[in-house]
Amino acid sequence: MKIKLILLVHILLFVGGEKLFAQNQFEKYFINSTLRFDYQRSGNADTGIINYAHMKHEPFWGGSKKNLIDKFNYGMYRLMVYDSTTNELIYSRGYKTLFHEWQSTDEAKKVNKSFYEVVVMPFPKKSIRIKLQHRTLQHKFITDFEMVINPKNYFISKEKVTEYPTKKIIDNNIPEKSVDVVILPDGYTQAEMGKFREDAEKYAKKLLQWKPFLKNKKKFNFWIVEAPSLESGTDIPGDNIWKNTVLNSSFYTFDSERYLMTEDIKTVRDIASCVPYDQIYILVNTNKYGGGGVYNYYSLSSANNLLSEFVFAHEFGHGFASLADEYYTADVAYEGYYDLSVEPYLPNITTLVDFDSKWKDMLKKNTPIPTPTTEEYRNKVGVFEGGGYLAKGIYRPAYNCTMKSAVIDGFCPVCQRAIQAMIDFYTK
Ligand SMILES: [Zn+2]
Repeated sequence: MKIKLILLVHILLFVGGEKLFAQNQFEKYFINSTLRFDYQRSGNADTGIINYAHMKHEPFWGGSKKNLIDKFNYGMYRLMVYDSTTNELIYSRGYKTLFHEWQSTDEAKKVNKSFYEVVVMPFPKKSIRIKLQHRTLQHKFITDFEMVINPKNYFISKEKVTEYPTKKIIDNNIPEKSVDVVILPDGYTQAEMGKFREDAEKYAKKLLQWKPFLKNKKKFNFWIVEAPSLESGTDIPGDNIWKNTVLNSSFYTFDSERYLMTEDIKTVRDIASCVPYDQIYILVNTNKYGGGGVYNYYSLSSANNLLSEFVFAHEFGHGFASLADEYYTADVAYEGYYDLSVEPYLPNITTLVDFDSKWKDMLKKNTPIPTPTTEEYRNKVGVFEGGGYLAKGIYRPAYNCTMKSAVIDGFCPVCQRAIQAMIDFYTK
């Protein structure tokens, strides 16, 4: 009888206990603020090494307090955080950075280069061991860097950043139960801050009209930090245009004209830390078409182009949900970017090496593989050849999609499912 009672108590504790356990995990190991770890990743086409730079204690934690362990296995890199005494994994996140893209450029075959990178985690109560890892072609993770961090270390900087005015422009829920997107301005002067506020609100609201964001509207907060630039616009090296802007964005990243990005991650993260955030979005005050998005790093879009609404959502697909480009005719073809002998980790392209792990369950019976681009399959989930910068050997899920071309409210069902899973991860 006693045994039965104990069993019953255990069962009762277990049912519905998962959430409680996760919350307790957060409280057991972390406090409600951020530990930021800065480092340099240096190397060339073949190798990358990591050198520690700096640590900071930032005032907010915008992330989930329940989902501490990454379940997606996306990204070229991974942050793993362990309790240093028990070795229990207590936090992890997959991510990508510009370094990985640079590695597939011609320049990386000739010179070594360094990129500043940053990872964040909730601030630990006790000593932790962090591991920074990279993914091999065969999807194994190799540790590049390992360090024990004592939270009492007085070199963890608590220095305040320049305080800019902040505003929650879309306010739905508390940060730990929402996707918190902070929008940062680049190339907006002090006199143009009103325009920045309008631009940020315009694109945030438009995004929330798109599927699947529309039905998840109440799960998003959008914040802005009004950091002015000395000059209006952004760098366009190919036209010899140079502007002094707060986040140092530039067209011609990796010599690709419309690839508008910034390598100044330190400033980006400093300014983002004025608010709690999960995702960083940079709006650049330029008419020229361009942008970029790097998974769990940041998304960036030009603000004044006719196609900016599309670019804003497309880049967020990369930055938020690790979606791949579904196009294959653009000038940003990276040589050997995907290995066709393995299944890419991205949710919306496949090499058919392990299609079961992708959207096979969403295909209607008897859908031909590859799926012909005929009228019959125009609005159906299929396996269309061409995607991920290659016309052959990589397949995409839909005839068209916002990740393929400039369609408004056009994420295909597979991309929508991946976005939904990510929203749930942040908010449930
Ligand atoms: Zn898609």
